Amino acid sequence: MNTRAYAALASKEKLVPYEFNRRALGAHDVALDIAYAGICHSDIHQAREEWGPAIFPMVPGHEIAGTVTAVGSAVSKFKVGDRIGVGVFVDSCRICENCKAGLQQYCLEGMTGTYNQLERDGVTVAMGGYSNYFVINEDYAVTIPANLPLEGVAPLLCAGITLYSPIKHWGVGPGKKVAVMGLGGLGHMGVKFAAALGADVTVLSHSPQKEADARAMGAHSFIATNDKEVFTKHAKTFDVILNTVSAELDIDLYLNLLKLDGTLVVIGLPGKPYALNAGTLLNGRRSIGGSMIGGIPELQEMLNFCGEKNIVSDVEVIKADYINEAYERTVASDVKYRFVIDASTF
Ligand code: NAP
Ligand code: ZN
Ligand code: ZN
Repeated sequence: MNTRAYAALASKEKLVPYEFNRRALGAHDVALDIAYAGICHSDIHQAREEWGPAIFPMVPGHEIAGTVTAVGSAVSKFKVGDRIGVGVFVDSCRICENCKAGLQQYCLEGMTGTYNQLERDGVTVAMGGYSNYFVINEDYAVTIPANLPLEGVAPLLCAGITLYSPIKHWGVGPGKKVAVMGLGGLGHMGVKFAAALGADVTVLSHSPQKEADARAMGAHSFIATNDKEVFTKHAKTFDVILNTVSAELDIDLYLNLLKLDGTLVVIGLPGKPYALNAGTLLNGRRSIGGSMIGGIPELQEMLNFCGEKNIVSDVEVIKADYINEAYERTVASDVKYRFVIDASTF
């Protein structure tokens, strides 16, 4: 099926209009008229090869929300007209222990990314969500709650689940002091989820002008990190720190903000190693952990939670021809708090 999209034709080049054909509908596939696609900082890292060599032309996008337009002959999960979402992967091996546990993102063979990767046939290049049309195996799509607007839901498919999963895993809730590093697309969802779950939430940001927004999202405190004295003042404060920062930074400074037995969860992926002092970890029995998106069952659980609590992303809806400017603004931390592309403009 002919698909209109935006693609990066080479590393670090501006994205341009692009057309290609998606596969015909298989028995277990559903076809999707995309309504909105979010812009994740991971799209920018990959289009600019900040994580290493990439596949071009690249149609990025792994925050996809839309409506089912056709279903394959064996599909049982969805019907035409359903509102569904697609996230960061479109397939996995299905049989390894992690896939069987519903943790497809940690598939032992490797998940099949929504773009910048070969599909499991080893030949087809996966093309992502900056497009008007998508085809997905029904097992890798999720149902969007009826009460939520699609533009605010699209970012939940990556930014949302990426914070929901570690928040659940590390028991963020009542009685816990949690800090979110970086109030961008991921970070603002972390604030909303942690606040909704009853934790005491602090934002650590290098953009002091974001304080009012952070508080409106549910943060109880806001610490501007431009003034390095705050790292002494707030030492040994937090049970959990969720690091969503997309750029390199001095991780040791932030580790020092953890109280006894606290954990700093690495979520941002700048592409360069962090430097870290053993002494900072020893002093306070601190841990450093990591977390990557979430599996299909948890993705559905997160969307249901959002439906119940009326949680969506704060979005700035743009037309396709604004993507390159949106990239620049995202890199400059000037995003409120996720750019979402109106797919009717491809
Ligand atoms: P984003 O919207 O650009 O937000 C990143 C935030 O980091 C910025 O808004 C800014 O917040 C802070 N920041 C940026 N540059 C900084 C600097 N030089 N110093 C200090 N803080 C800085 O990006 P995103 O889409 O949320 O993604 C964040 C990171 O997570 C990216 O690296 C992305 O690839 C990664 N990611 C990981 C997963 C996963 O599964 N673990 C999933 C998706 C994305 P303030 O202005 O508040 O400081
Ligand atoms: Zn993402
Ligand atoms: Zn697997």
